[in-house]
Amino acid sequence: MAIIALANQKGGVAKTTTVHALAEGLAELGQSVLAIDLDPQASLTYACGIDPEALSESIHEVFVKRTDLADVIVDANTFNLVPSNIDLAGAEIHLMTKTGREYALAKALKKVQAAYDTILIDCGPSLGILTINGLTAADYVAVPFQAETLSQRGVGQLLETIDDVRNYTNSDLKILGGIATMFDARTNLSHQVIESVAADHKLEILDPPIPKSVRVAEAPGFGKSVLTYAPRSKPAVAYRQLVTTILEKL
Ligand code: ADP
Ligand code: MG
Repeated sequence: MAIIALANQKGGVAKTTTVHALAEGLAELGQSVLAIDLDPQASLTYACGIDPEALSESIHEVFVKRTDLADVIVDANTFNLVPSNIDLAGAEIHLMTKTGREYALAKALKKVQAAYDTILIDCGPSLGILTINGLTAADYVAVPFQAETLSQRGVGQLLETIDDVRNYTNSDLKILGGIATMFDARTNLSHQVIESVAADHKLEILDPPIPKSVRVAEAPGFGKSVLTYAPRSKPAVAYRQLVTTILEKL
């Protein structure tokens, strides 16, 4: 069993998209997968075709009411999902006043984790207590970044946060690598960004980069990831290869 957090405090770098695709990709290989939506914006929950407003319980209740994580798990076709909703923004404030606040997710996962081969955590766009919970619960962290943006200052900040987590709450946390998203093989810029992220941050970049494609952006509207929405598209093929790369590194 491996717990993998996808984190980058920058929004729009394809964390949610990648968690969704990896969850479906691992499930295609016969794995039992749990994905956790740790973002109050609940993008992963929506992308799975689930209306967060229609749920009586979500990850918020796990943090605030100590509801069993098992009781909030829902079915997302090929994998299981711990959904989020906007209430989670309030959980952040609640957690700040609690002893052991960094460990709430790790503790909640203990009872269910044995039932899964892989658990994926979709972190939100901040380095706050929710993301710290994700990193504290994880065995590995992967860092998606946009291959079309040269400025990647956020990655350095995230790596510092990862260092803090290793020093204080999770000494076993390992960096799986960077994941280049929205890659355009025809532009020099895309190649340059990957090289500079790797060199500037001494970060291994996992193969292959994920091509930019409108098919990826369309998929959540159908409650699917690109893997089931456009199974033979370039990004779907790339995400399947990325699954293999990741499994080899665990
Ligand atoms: P994050 O979770 O990091 O905020 P998202 O996964 O929500 O990022 O992605 C941001 C936007 O980019 C979404 O609209 C998504 O559909 C789109 N997107 C993600 N990956 C790709 C891709 N490979 N090609 C085109 N659009 C993409
Ligand atoms: Mg997201």
